[in-house]
Amino acid sequence: MNITYLDNNATTRTAPEVVEKMLPFYTEYYGNPSSMYGFAGYVAKKLAEARIKTAQLIGASAEEIVFTSCGTESDSTAIYAALQSYPHKKHILTTRVEHPAVKSLCEHLSAKKGYRVTFVPVDGKGFLDLDYLYDHITDDTAIVSVMWANNETGVIFPVEDIARVVKKRGAVFHTDAVQAVGKIPMNLADTDIDMLSLSGHKLHAPKGAGALYIRKGTKFAPFLIGGHQEKGRRGGTENTASIVGLGKACELAGERIEEENTRVRALRDKLETEILKQVPHTVINGDIHNRLPNTTSIGFEYVEGESILLMLNELGICASSGSACTSGSLEPSHVLRALGVPFTIAHGSIRFSLSVYNSDADIDFVIEQLPPIIEKLRMISPFRAQENQT
Ligand SMILES: *Cc1c(COP(=O)(O)O)cnc(C)c1O
Repeated sequence: MNITYLDNNATTRTAPEVVEKMLPFYTEYYGNPSSMYGFAGYVAKKLAEARIKTAQLIGASAEEIVFTSCGTESDSTAIYAALQSYPHKKHILTTRVEHPAVKSLCEHLSAKKGYRVTFVPVDGKGFLDLDYLYDHITDDTAIVSVMWANNETGVIFPVEDIARVVKKRGAVFHTDAVQAVGKIPMNLADTDIDMLSLSGHKLHAPKGAGALYIRKGTKFAPFLIGGHQEKGRRGGTENTASIVGLGKACELAGERIEEENTRVRALRDKLETEILKQVPHTVINGDIHNRLPNTTSIGFEYVEGESILLMLNELGICASSGSACTSGSLEPSHVLRALGVPFTIAHGSIRFSLSVYNSDADIDFVIEQLPPIIEKLRMISPFRAQENQT
């Protein structure tokens, strides 16, 4: 069966050009980049090139890039680094819609480690309450962590503006930019952002490589303590093949950012417009303007997202639901709950996330298949039945 892959915010296809660059590092160039001989020196040289390419994509300098294993490690490293660098400060400021990589860590620090955490709310369109955020920065705030773009709705936050304010108020500013890198042009040199997380497998690099940007001069403490790798900022022998792949993927992302914002955006818009036109009682979750070009979260009233996904799966269509099934009861996603999306819509929400590897044919297939699926499910919907009773 053909796979129609529309779940690129979960992970992406490794670009063939990236795989090609990686393979020799499993076979021929297996040297440890920290070793002294020339054989390993070549690996170190390629690692350095990957660092430059990664830095270039985000407008940073190579020394400001620390390679990690994933976005989650970058997020944890950033938050722990700030807490360790300012041990007398016990407050963390973040948002209600962060990825679990930040959200669960902050909940843990609050529940088990004695930190006070403020989760800034969003409005119905998914925009942050900036007044609330600024009002809650205190002298006790060690770090403010706000994602650049939301993984479920695609809504973009004004992190450059927020960083400017946070910096003036004396706290560290970190952004989880895992969804934004490669989709939004950025030049970190012109911002007050202190730390930024990115993840390889969200931008057509392999799983197993991520990066943390650490602005020159930012106080830092390593999360993985060990050897002198990464200038003492992250112990552990580098995942050389994946990092070389990340470098290549960053180079490609720079070249394709234009296509993401034109062709991919147009495909997303077509999918959305057609579905909204053909299927009644359907809404877009989050603001439709200030949003990543590849993401749409569509709420279908009176249907369960899980059922839609199962039927799409039968056709080889990969998408994702906004809800996670917890112990038999369907729990709507924390993001959609934070937006105040009504129960009947949150439960029936599906996220489609595209990439440069999607074609018109992919989108036409979904536009053709999805409306009859929704119609069928609505006929047997328990939500519908409840609605009719009341
Ligand atoms: C996927 C994702 C992460 C986690 O990245 P991993 O590399 O899977 O650990 C963090 N934040 C956001 C916004 C994400 O979409």
